[in-house]
Amino acid sequence: MLPYPLQGHVIPFTNLAIKLASNGFTITFINTESIHHQISKAKGRPVGQDVFSEARKSGLDIRYATVSDGFPVGFDRSGNHDQFFEGILHVFSAHVDEIVGNLVREDPTINSIIVDTFYVWGSVIADKYELVNISFFTEPALVFTLYYHVELLRKNGHFASRENRADAIDYIPGVKSIMPSDLMSYFQDKDDISTIVHQIIHKAFEDVKKADFIICNTIQEFEEETVSSLHQKQPFYSIGPIFAPGFTKSCAFTSLWSESDCNQWLNAKPNGSVLYVSFGSYAHTTKHEIDEVANGLLLSGVNFIWVLRPDIVSSDETDILPIGYEDRVKDRGLVVPWCCQVEVISHPAVGGFLTHCGWNSILESIRCGVPLICYPLLTDQFTNRKLVVDDLKIGINLCDKKSILSRNGVLEKINYLMGGKKSEEIKEQVKKVREILDDAMATDGSSVANFNRFVKDLETKIAEIKKD
Ligand code: UDP
Repeated sequence: MLPYPLQGHVIPFTNLAIKLASNGFTITFINTESIHHQISKAKGRPVGQDVFSEARKSGLDIRYATVSDGFPVGFDRSGNHDQFFEGILHVFSAHVDEIVGNLVREDPTINSIIVDTFYVWGSVIADKYELVNISFFTEPALVFTLYYHVELLRKNGHFASRENRADAIDYIPGVKSIMPSDLMSYFQDKDDISTIVHQIIHKAFEDVKKADFIICNTIQEFEEETVSSLHQKQPFYSIGPIFAPGFTKSCAFTSLWSESDCNQWLNAKPNGSVLYVSFGSYAHTTKHEIDEVANGLLLSGVNFIWVLRPDIVSSDETDILPIGYEDRVKDRGLVVPWCCQVEVISHPAVGGFLTHCGWNSILESIRCGVPLICYPLLTDQFTNRKLVVDDLKIGINLCDKKSILSRNGVLEKINYLMGGKKSEEIKEQVKKVREILDDAMATDGSSVANFNRFVKDLETKIAEIKKD
């Protein structure tokens, strides 16, 4: 299994490894050296220890290896985004080829490879070593299908034309209608549509067409038509949400930053009174955005925990918050660089989540019955917002456009979600959607059935290959 070297991919991949190993598979999990070092540092563990040592003690057969992504471990990947992704596109596959070749020679019983859908070389490596090619998509099926059908968007003038059309998109199979402003950020660009990420997306979604199986971290009931339309094209399985077996307790390490303990602070707060604020692991914001959110939180008077990654604005900006902010907030707010998010939002004191709309965060919030205020920043987050606000109706928009973000707007939305009566409907709806998620994960639920079907189909495919 090879996850993309980003927090939001490493977490579901690790949880999937545990799930597959719990179902009798032998797994070899390959993290990049950089991810491995970062996890070890965050946990204060020697780099020699692997992230699955606890899982192995409980009897799971998960082996562990690391591979170079082409850069020195100390290289600032977040601060040199494009250079890093150039390396991922052009250099990384040579390292992967070498390690997979070695592993397959050492252990000829290895028969399949699970790669992140955003890798461009899954089919090449799978063909070379005669492995079953499984693509794991960690985002929703709606995002998958929009990337998959980029040619339709292009042909109809909604993407990559001089003046992109601004009307509704109603021709993507399995998607009734979606506005261009709900597309992933890369499809909203008019000027520069050949960035490194565009190149990766185009190549990756050509390559995924050659995958034997596609597994997706979504729930069938959330995106019924999209999923069934994709299934007509290729074997596509909705097996999400892929959480750690104990949800808040995992037998493997995944966190890239050291986690601040928020429990004591939360224990002293009334139920449902705390707004949790996080923009995830990857997105950057401007100082202006931080200022407006900070002041909105201050004006609102609500209790809050705010995860502010040290690199949220940029790697060399240290004074992110307004001067004297923490003194003005006093005990009402807790600002931390990183935390165990699932633990925090599971706490009864948490009553809302101001989120950038990362898909893992959304699934986790539903699992905890916590309604959302949405502030998408880039990539799939705009499309995920549509699912949350328009389709599932479990959240509200922070503002319609990033350019009009203001402290008074932030105040208004926080008051709406956290202020009782007005948000009753959303809170009721979150409970209903949580039931759908719980049902999908139950013994007779859709995600369990789809996972079992995937395992059965995979075993049939492996048997066929062996016969040849
Ligand atoms: N996360 C965490 N601690 C934090 C912030 C985030 O453990 O302080 C986890 C969160 O639970 C989620 C992942 O990091 O599983 C972020 O993934 P998501 O898809 O939400 O956003 P991304 O970081 O990929 O933009």
